[in-house]
Amino acid sequence: MNKESLKSYLIAKGINCSDEQLVDLLDLMKTTLETNEKFNITAITDESEFLEKMIYDSALGLQKFDFNGKRVIDVGTGAGFPGMVLYILNPEMHLTLLDSTAKKINHLNDYCSSKNYKVEGVVARIEDYAKKNIEKYDFAFARAVASLNILVELISPLLKAGGVFIALKGKGADEEIKGASNALRKLNLEIIDTDNETLPDSKEQRTLIYIRKNRPTPRKYPREYSLIKKLPL
Ligand code: SAM
Repeated sequence: MNKESLKSYLIAKGINCSDEQLVDLLDLMKTTLETNEKFNITAITDESEFLEKMIYDSALGLQKFDFNGKRVIDVGTGAGFPGMVLYILNPEMHLTLLDSTAKKINHLNDYCSSKNYKVEGVVARIEDYAKKNIEKYDFAFARAVASLNILVELISPLLKAGGVFIALKGKGADEEIKGASNALRKLNLEIIDTDNETLPDSKEQRTLIYIRKNRPTPRKYPREYSLIKKLPL
């Protein structure tokens, strides 16, 4: 993928990308790749692959909802994906980037200040942050952080009733959905839609899973992380 095809693929998906936003996405890539040499924050280092698997892939999360003025969190953001791409393409959202690794969030906070982006970076473990920030967010995203049955327990307390968790998944999403049915029921969550996507160059499969919180999360969740891992719902 190159910058011209990125822009046309986004527009074909109904995702607006102005020339200024394209410049900002390319700057994000450049900075991430430069920082990577010091910090090892992403495994994808080829530019064409980066545009497809980091930038385009992240942007797919914008297709379904209007995020203007909404509180959005990217849980386990790593080097800022999908969160930074979502924000550059829609700076009207109120975005929190959360990761347990301080060097990643410090880098993102520095980058956002240098670009005057109004983004909040938080160093925390999701399970701790979720207990202190109940029902704060309209939308949550997570890409490549944990299996779906574990993620929903960590993330559901953060969502307002009616809020939506958008899980960005690769191959095996159907199995993860099956494996999460008990967790979804116990947490008052419902899968309201899924989108199967094929990346344009590599033809890799992606699935976006849209999960709505219908009622408040029972207060006993999330449990201690060790218990979630040992005995997932
Ligand atoms: N979402 C990014 C992406 O798709 O490129 C990063 C994915 S990386 C494989 C997983 C990230 O989740 C890491 O940066 C890790 O520090 C973070 N993470 C894992 N468990 C976490 C937890 N319990 N709380 C906060 N962050 C966590």
